[in-house]
Amino acid sequence: MLQLPYQSLQVTAVPSQRVPVREDQDGPWHAEAVCRRDEAGLFFAPSKEPTAARLSREEAAKQVCARCPVMVECQEHALLQPEPYGVWGGLTAAERRVVLARRRRRDVEVKKTQSAA
Ligand code: SF4
Repeated sequence: MLQLPYQSLQVTAVPSQRVPVREDQDGPWHAEAVCRRDEAGLFFAPSKEPTAARLSREEAAKQVCARCPVMVECQEHALLQPEPYGVWGGLTAAERRVVLARRRRRDVEVKKTQSAA
């Protein structure tokens, strides 16, 4: 059975110091997730999904994310965990790997700069 991103969050340890948590609700930011209400099946690939279908599904999922009020929090969560599958915060798994690689390179450059100073 496919899980939507907000469902995965319920079983995943989310470091509270990294992910903003709304104190006025019964749960963290995912309580406001647009994908909580509908869009089932858009966010994770079924097995043996053809490439054209995957690209179309991912684009539809990104359009849902674009109107989600917690997109930034969701995206950062998926990067910090990291979440290996699905569309989170408007990014596919491949796009998140690119972002993480850029962050690692940036961190290396910062350390080099600091050690040279
Ligand atoms: S940004 Fe996308 S994946 Fe994340 S909670 Fe919102 S709709 Fe769901």
